[in-house]
Amino acid sequence: MSDVPLQPPFQKVAIIGLGLLGGSIGLALRDHAPGIATTGYDRDPATRVRAAERGLVGTVAEDAVKAVQDADLVIFCVPPLAMGAAAAECAPGLRADALISDVGSSKVAVAKALGEVLPHHTIIPAHPVAGTENSGPDAGFASLFQGRWCILTPPESADPARVEALSALWRAIGAKVEVMNAAHHDLVLAITSHLPHLIAYTIVGTADDLQEVTQSEVIKYSAGGFRDFTRIAASDPTMWRDVFLSNRDAVLAMLQVFTEDLTELQKAIRLGDGDKLFDHFTRTRAIRRSIIEQGQDTAAANFGRQG
Ligand code: NAP
Repeated sequence: MSDVPLQPPFQKVAIIGLGLLGGSIGLALRDHAPGIATTGYDRDPATRVRAAERGLVGTVAEDAVKAVQDADLVIFCVPPLAMGAAAAECAPGLRADALISDVGSSKVAVAKALGEVLPHHTIIPAHPVAGTENSGPDAGFASLFQGRWCILTPPESADPARVEALSALWRAIGAKVEVMNAAHHDLVLAITSHLPHLIAYTIVGTADDLQEVTQSEVIKYSAGGFRDFTRIAASDPTMWRDVFLSNRDAVLAMLQVFTEDLTELQKAIRLGDGDKLFDHFTRTRAIRRSIIEQGQDTAAANFGRQG
């Protein structure tokens, strides 16, 4: 990001949902685009109080209609299956020319839900590929998007100037922007994010259910690999339930391919086919190297942990 703060062409941004994503956008705008006024709303009164204490947005509104009044950009930062209800609550207060966006982890279903509720508004969905396993108003931090990708999935009819305006806002808060078709986004994220979460949820649950190995043994020896899955498996249950339900087809397609590949490896182990296992592990190690080369993770061993 350049040292000169970019001034994207928005005067007032309303953020609906003041958890990890909404809070991080508000804090990042405060730091990098101080010329933009921010308002926010969350349905949970305790979250609104905490959001005001932390200064996640300039003004925390007491209702959704007030939050979006005069906003020229409204970003929905609620769980994927809550997008439609949140948009309906805001609808009476929206400016007719307000640009509507969101940060939902699945894009086809969310765009459909927003479009059904706001048929006359321009909707340019977005998904910042950045997050943590934490949620709620204390989870957000200003640097969440630094160096991370934000994928915009505008409909074909979208005005390029409005796509560029939204891109500029994301670049201003540190993200790199890519434009993609929504269905393709859902397929890509099914393999890079949604399936890894499903696998983590499965393996941590399986370990918990085991009879032969005690829970204290699982925890004691977790540095053998298990604990890296537990970070992902600690992610917000509401959000991830919604992700799997709203990106069902792409996740099931990727799960089918994954299951076939897992069966292949199972067969190699059963047949003692060391060459097959070695070749497979060599190929996957190269993918880890590419992720580090492209600045998407640290090169430090064990993610830089000491123990
Ligand atoms: P979060 O920390 O749980 O925040 C969501 C907030 O929205 C909660 O405070 C929730 O309140 C509130 N909310 C729910 N329905 C609402 C409504 N109708 N009106 C107003 N507020 C409402 O979740 P998050 O991690 O920020 O995720 C938000 C969105 O970002 C999701 O769509 C997710 O797919 C996407 N995303 C998440 C990540 C990640 O790593 N977490 C990364 C990229 C994108 P309650 O607690 O009362 O439900």
